[in-house]
Amino acid sequence: MARGGPVDRLARDAAAISTPTETPPVPAGDHVACVHCGKTVARTETDLCGLGFRCRACSDKAELDELTGAKPDVADHLVAEDRARFAEQGKRLALKALGVGALLFACGSVLLVFAPSPAAFKPMLLALIVVFAIGGQGYARWRRFRVRPSNAK
Ligand SMILES: [Zn+2]
Repeated sequence: MARGGPVDRLARDAAAISTPTETPPVPAGDHVACVHCGKTVARTETDLCGLGFRCRACSDKAELDELTGAKPDVADHLVAEDRARFAEQGKRLALKALGVGALLFACGSVLLVFAPSPAAFKPMLLALIVVFAIGGQGYARWRRFRVRPSNAK
């Protein structure tokens, strides 16, 4: 595949880094409000997460949720707009990968019909790689960052 081709551009999109817009606020005193449950706790009893301080109980729960896949931990680290933006980028990446994959598959099919040879399977193989590797990454990003009613803030 030539440099700057659709597959290369997709790979560059997949590797692009998205930066959040918000940083955690600086606390005024020794006690801070948990960004998750709102309880006021001693700052030494908290973890620092993307949106501010989080009490130990909420951090433990978030870690368990992350491990079990119940709910990604990003809700406390990124504001809803950022999550929506990242999810949208993931969705776009997945759809682009599907489109490029379909095009490659069509090319392979045409080759197979008009010039049957083992080489005709190469575009099809590339299509599978594009769809599952790059498209899969986009899909995973969308799933992780999408803002669901349960974690919207
Ligand atoms: Zn809490």
